Amino acid sequence: MLLDLLAEGLVPWNVWTIVAYTLIVTHITIVCVTVYLHRHSAHRALDVHPALAHFFRFWLWLTTGMGTKEWTAIHRKHHATCETAEDPHSPVVMGLGKIFWQGFLVYRLAGTPEVLARYGAGCPDDWIERNFYSKHTWAGIILMFVINVMLFGAIGITIGAIQMVWIPLFAAGVINGIGHFWGYRNYECPDAARNIVPWGILIGGEELHNNHHTYPNSAKLSSKEWEFDIGWFWIRLFETFGLAKVRSKGPVSTRVEGKASLDLDTAWAILNDRFRIMSRYAENVITPSVRAEYDKADEATRRVLRKARKALARECSIVTARQRATIDAVVKSSEELRVVYEHRIALMEVWRKRANAEELLAGLRKWCVEAEKTGIRALQDFVVELKTYAMPAAKTA
Ligand SMILES: [Zn+2]
Ligand SMILES: [Zn+2]
Repeated sequence: MLLDLLAEGLVPWNVWTIVAYTLIVTHITIVCVTVYLHRHSAHRALDVHPALAHFFRFWLWLTTGMGTKEWTAIHRKHHATCETAEDPHSPVVMGLGKIFWQGFLVYRLAGTPEVLARYGAGCPDDWIERNFYSKHTWAGIILMFVINVMLFGAIGITIGAIQMVWIPLFAAGVINGIGHFWGYRNYECPDAARNIVPWGILIGGEELHNNHHTYPNSAKLSSKEWEFDIGWFWIRLFETFGLAKVRSKGPVSTRVEGKASLDLDTAWAILNDRFRIMSRYAENVITPSVRAEYDKADEATRRVLRKARKALARECSIVTARQRATIDAVVKSSEELRVVYEHRIALMEVWRKRANAEELLAGLRKWCVEAEKTGIRALQDFVVELKTYAMPAAKTA
């Protein structure tokens, strides 16, 4: 009887049952990581109802053994020290291979008492956390193996093994490794984060890592119309049932067509939405200027110009030596590209160096006057667009 149970389990199954079950349980774990640990606990982008929070904590204990405080603290440190020697898991510093294959180990080692004390504020510290989850980290995983074997027999061991490697491979290896190495960038955030693919399903939306590093306090990780964040779908569903409340979903700004003055309201909106504004600068000012140069260039210059668009728009702190050489070459050969590039740097300096709101406003006004004087049409159009930014009415009332 017991041997029969071990061989076949309580539930009649075929290969598709096993595949569906494995995908469902691993997806639940991913939702726990992205919605609860990441967006709620580490970034406070949403509030979670206590009943749902308890479920998330239980499921994480059952399937991963990861503690909320440990995960939260290491992740906050990652954002605070990104791409430096202090970063707990930077593939730029440690190498992609190390983070991809040993990401989970790197993670575990990073959870020192000092890190937990410095970055772990606001995490659960109730009876069940102190006496159960943090004391019996492996018991949950063993219990999950037992449940799998009871349900499906011997193949339950394989399911349990897949569950065990799912988070280390996808969350620690893919997001922390590849998410800082391969993919596309919507925004020039000041680190190497990239969106791995535009459809965030397999890793719960965490694929959109460049969007996340740009707007870390946003509960929604998709940003463009063609991007999809399944974690956001779950959050909206939880909200419908009163189980979650979104606190932030990205920069607060709006556009008022025809607005032609640069006032304090506009200055705040520009500051809030600066990453999106700079990506529009790349698209509407840098790209047309590079294209115009390309059309009249000889073949040797065209080879350099092909790489110029990305190089001229790249965040300065992560420009590679090769991109630096491209920038130097194109600004030397083209007066228009030099002006466009220098204005990009100057605009970023305005908000980087601002000491207060008045300085920000004065800096932006000066920048607009100088941009208008260049005579470059794309830059002048960009100034017109800048002036249309405003804070949404509800926020300024
Ligand atoms: Zn990251
Ligand atoms: Zn984060």
